[in-house]
Amino acid sequence: MSDNRFFKNDLPDGIDLGSEVAIDCETMGLDPNRDRLCLVQLSDGDGNVCFIQIGPGQMEAPNLCALLASPDILKLFHFGRFDIAILYHTFKVLCSPVYCTKIASKLARTYTDRHGLKDLLKEVLGLDIAKHLQSSDWGSPDLTPAQLEYAASDVIYLHRLKRELDIRLKREGRAALAEACFGFLPERAILDISGWRDVDIFAH
Ligand code: MN
Repeated sequence: MSDNRFFKNDLPDGIDLGSEVAIDCETMGLDPNRDRLCLVQLSDGDGNVCFIQIGPGQMEAPNLCALLASPDILKLFHFGRFDIAILYHTFKVLCSPVYCTKIASKLARTYTDRHGLKDLLKEVLGLDIAKHLQSSDWGSPDLTPAQLEYAASDVIYLHRLKRELDIRLKREGRAALAEACFGFLPERAILDISGWRDVDIFAH
């Protein structure tokens, strides 16, 4: 298969994953204020994944944070709102610039309300991925090969997905709107963990 690498706590020095890096996080649950970050997966778009296992109470990961904050590296997420929030909460680093395949899908695929990664990969790329390990014990010190395979599937297709969604966004005249949404996404994530999670600040 591919050239996957597993690290504890941070990326090693001098790693280069290119100018577009797909990122996903596995956590103990869905509340960034309660549930700790356990695993960060990064992919360069060539099918290779770097896994970074995050320890309980860990608050620093300098090499990872440099990548997340780098203005020269576009970070690709699927529902980045959650990942950006948990990374900010854990490391006090704000991911930017970012791209979110879920937002792109919502703007481009208005004929459906199925914007989950599994549905998106199935329809847009014709790929079937298993999601049954989504809810598993990501805090375990010994992650299983099946868990890592699942975690990899959440990042290795995002570059291809972006390419296809960008074509559709352009076709429908919504590329600029998508760009503006991606630009605001980091601050939307800060609002989430600062008390405005369920508030639409644009509402009347
Ligand atoms: Mn995931």
